[in-house]
Amino acid sequence: MIPKSFIQDLLNRLDIVDVIERYLPLKKAGANYVACCPFHTEKSPSFTVSQTKQFYHCFGCGAHGTAIGFVMEHTGMGFVEAVEELAKSIGVTVPQEASNIPQHKVAPDLYDLMQSATRYYREQLKKTPRAIDYLKRRGMSGEVAARFGIGYAPDDWQNLKDAVPNYQDASLVETGLVIAGEEGKRYDRFRDRIMFPIVNVRGQVIGFGGRVLDKGEPKYLNSPETPLFEKGHELYGLFQAQKAIRAHQRVVVVEGYMDVVALAQHGVEYAVATLGTATTPYHVQKLLRLCDQIVFCFDGDKPGQKAAWRALENALPQLQDGKRLGFLFLPEEHDPDTYIREFGTEAFEHELDNSLALSGYLLRELTAEVDLGTQEGRSALLKNAQPLLTAITAPTTALLLRKEVAALAGVTQAELEALWAIKSIAAPQRAAPPKARRAAPSGGLRILLRCLVMKPELARELPNDLHSDGAEAAAIAALADWLHESADETTTAAMIQHFQGTLHEPVFATAQGEVMQWGEEFDVDAEFAGMLRKMRREAVESEMSALQAKGLAMDASERARHDELREELKQLKTQAS
Ligand SMILES: [Zn+2]
Repeated sequence: MIPKSFIQDLLNRLDIVDVIERYLPLKKAGANYVACCPFHTEKSPSFTVSQTKQFYHCFGCGAHGTAIGFVMEHTGMGFVEAVEELAKSIGVTVPQEASNIPQHKVAPDLYDLMQSATRYYREQLKKTPRAIDYLKRRGMSGEVAARFGIGYAPDDWQNLKDAVPNYQDASLVETGLVIAGEEGKRYDRFRDRIMFPIVNVRGQVIGFGGRVLDKGEPKYLNSPETPLFEKGHELYGLFQAQKAIRAHQRVVVVEGYMDVVALAQHGVEYAVATLGTATTPYHVQKLLRLCDQIVFCFDGDKPGQKAAWRALENALPQLQDGKRLGFLFLPEEHDPDTYIREFGTEAFEHELDNSLALSGYLLRELTAEVDLGTQEGRSALLKNAQPLLTAITAPTTALLLRKEVAALAGVTQAELEALWAIKSIAAPQRAAPPKARRAAPSGGLRILLRCLVMKPELARELPNDLHSDGAEAAAIAALADWLHESADETTTAAMIQHFQGTLHEPVFATAQGEVMQWGEEFDVDAEFAGMLRKMRREAVESEMSALQAKGLAMDASERARHDELREELKQLKTQAS
């Protein structure tokens, strides 16, 4: 685990303008920097970076975050990866808090060994007509082969002797390229195979996939898990596809490397493949950071169906409202490679456009298993649907699916939610009687929130009795809690990073966008104090008029309260002037 204090420290040391400029040029515009947004297509720049507050905000598509968030979103890296990358860029090492997850230490030369092997395999391909013929027969151009770094491992036991300085080096076994047999005998893992380098999002080779040319088993052979290569985290082709995924706002997930390469050959450059594993939640999360639509394209056969269902199960907790997940099943005799070669790009893309939405696929499978005409069938539907639907955290998606399942089972939504012990989101909250609360006007909250984004530590000055409903009030309360826990002084960037991915993120994001347009001369302390006074005054006045409405019916304690309020109001008025 990376200690929280380190994240704050890292954000303090980085300059978001430098970080973003490693990926795209920024132009100064007033107090801020701007560029055409890398996350959506636009002609005039609405992507804005605040150097003083160290965050970015796009007024076109709403993308927002800190330097860490930018690197994650731009490269598809995970949080830890992005933090490591940024720490490295300013020469800092990431400290590790004790955790029970084993930490791999990667010797830097493992990457070099992989690079040497890649170069060697590529040279061998050029020298091997049989391998070139094979790729040509599959319709692959030299250009695409070069783009994916495709090579060939000759039919020998110790090919890599020619590629590396010391074949006996232990790190060669660590990379998975060489297998240490009995009596110290060593031999290459990959022999007589077409070699597909597996590249991480930084462009480093971390593993290989090898395919036999003719018959032979296994047809596909992957590198084992190594300190460089974690199968559940990596996707074949993501490095090459990133740009196209962003441009099309769509990614296709296929089963094999040949599918990825064949699709790229036919102009579908936004395809990636899992590497001999099911699609993991991590994969889905990584892809949803890059685009709005994932289409899983699996073979129509039994294993393909199974892979699709696993993908669905693992995707459910990652779903986000407004993003679309689709499933495309090709005719049984086809995979994406053969399909696009036979029917062409347009037909394939047409199939993608018409893929089955996740909700449709989920309901189709759930109802296929049961007989809805019987009570037993409807009860089984409810039972089977429960673990799947309760795994969904995207509120709208979850709600709509629950409604549909309830209707199919012939129960009401409320009955279904009671059965599954779900707290209904739609139910009105009537906890405390309304007059006991001092309702803060929402316009006021909005201004408070903006001030807090400018200067989070102001939350320490919030009165305890500022009660209000709504998302803004909840976000302000969460911020106050967070500050309460962290004793150090804090920054806007640390706050944004902390609330990234939480329920409150959208509310803060709106406020961040508004703050972007404030000038530097803005007196945030005065604005904040003034707004608190104004809200307090409104609360006092409303409580007073409620008491006054009682007139002679006021009892002694109410009279005392009224006098107290009148005194407070007098003071508030003098403070204001
Ligand atoms: Zn944008």
